[in-house]
Amino acid sequence: MLFERLQKPSHRTLLIALVIPWLSAPLFAETDSKEAGKKSEVLIAELAEDESVEDVEHSAPLQRDGQKEKAPKPKTSRGGAGVDTPSSASRKVAPNIDLKEVAPPPEAQTSAPPETDADAAESEVMATEALAEPEPQPEIREGKVFTLLDNDVMPGTSTRLAWTPGIQIAGLSQTTPVLVVNGINAGPTLCLTGAIHGDELNGIEIIRQTMYDLNPEKLSGTVVGVPIVNLPGFQQGSRYLPDRRDLNRHFPGSPDGSLADRIAHSLFENVIRKCDMLVDIHTGSLKRTNLPQLRADMNNPDVAEFTRGFDRMAVVHSTGSAGMLRTAAVEAGIRTVTLEAGESHRIQQHQISAGVNSLTSLMERQGMISRMFVWGDPEPVYYDSDWIRADHGGILFSEIELGANVSEGEILGYVSDPITNAQHPIRSTSDGRVIGMAVDQVVMAGFAAYHIGTEAEVPGE
Ligand SMILES: [Zn+2]
Repeated sequence: MLFERLQKPSHRTLLIALVIPWLSAPLFAETDSKEAGKKSEVLIAELAEDESVEDVEHSAPLQRDGQKEKAPKPKTSRGGAGVDTPSSASRKVAPNIDLKEVAPPPEAQTSAPPETDADAAESEVMATEALAEPEPQPEIREGKVFTLLDNDVMPGTSTRLAWTPGIQIAGLSQTTPVLVVNGINAGPTLCLTGAIHGDELNGIEIIRQTMYDLNPEKLSGTVVGVPIVNLPGFQQGSRYLPDRRDLNRHFPGSPDGSLADRIAHSLFENVIRKCDMLVDIHTGSLKRTNLPQLRADMNNPDVAEFTRGFDRMAVVHSTGSAGMLRTAAVEAGIRTVTLEAGESHRIQQHQISAGVNSLTSLMERQGMISRMFVWGDPEPVYYDSDWIRADHGGILFSEIELGANVSEGEILGYVSDPITNAQHPIRSTSDGRVIGMAVDQVVMAGFAAYHIGTEAEVPGE
């Protein structure tokens, strides 16, 4: 792993692209073809690095208006996606559950419906009552039945469903909880995914707090949350799947590929395709921490517009790597960003609050909720970014903190050689803000230690 990292060229300045959109495209094309040629090395590379470094550094530069035709086309009609009339067949009406209540463990999806006829009838009656007395607001359209995982979720109800990728021994099969809040009024479908990397915990809590505060009787549209996508990894405290693959390099997956391909395919087909918008929540990895920030392909006009709903969130342009959920979802016409908050293996309340506030702001911008209080300037802050790597191996000691404003040439930290006692300073290469950084640890030469963001105008404005 380390040899692989040492051999990699240091693309320090690729993201200057936000302000230098004409940065040479052939450079990236060459990088891409090299990557393809080194297929066998890709797995090693992906184990060695995470999306927070590789993904950002390998991004295509921002394009000028005339070059935008390559951006994936927006879907023209998604109105019917995931929305259907209640019906017959194998589907059943999902029970209406207050998500704030303590839940029994989810049950596997079996052929025998766990719900009694009486329960189902009650749900239907409640839905009918809700539909019978709509709010006297002419512009608001009535919500529709939302069908997910063979369940009909009535408008104005919330529920817990269970997704199983079907890759385990049937009798030992574990189900992954899927939370759904289906609004009384019509609107878009927002999906939230957490813990695709099983050791990234902040997103699990961001989804819980966001969804449990939603009132389906006041919501327009539908919110779907999968708090722990990589359940085996979560249980082992591991970023990866049990076969050591990174699930976030296998989307949209395939039904007959590797374990990771199959899990990715099942999630993508059964849940993700139902979404109009998706926020995939991550943290830094390999002992790095991130200021709450979005990774978004600003070359895609729909995605760029989507980032505008997220309160005062930092936004870093990144086209994304092949196989990432974000990349696959955008290709499928779903407006998608990655939300990065904090570091892995930890629950960080400050980062969680920032994430929840941003998602609340997003839902308001999308017309899904109305909140009483709006904080200040809701616009995000756009950043060019630059990773600064350690040039020596040793023990890293930082002099600055996450979020600090720094000047070009300022010492960010030292790498101390424990044997020779040499002290190697790491200096900032630009004026900006520390939007991501390594925690103090042993590093090898080439380790991406500091992520410096420089505020940039939104392209085209
Ligand atoms: Zn992650």
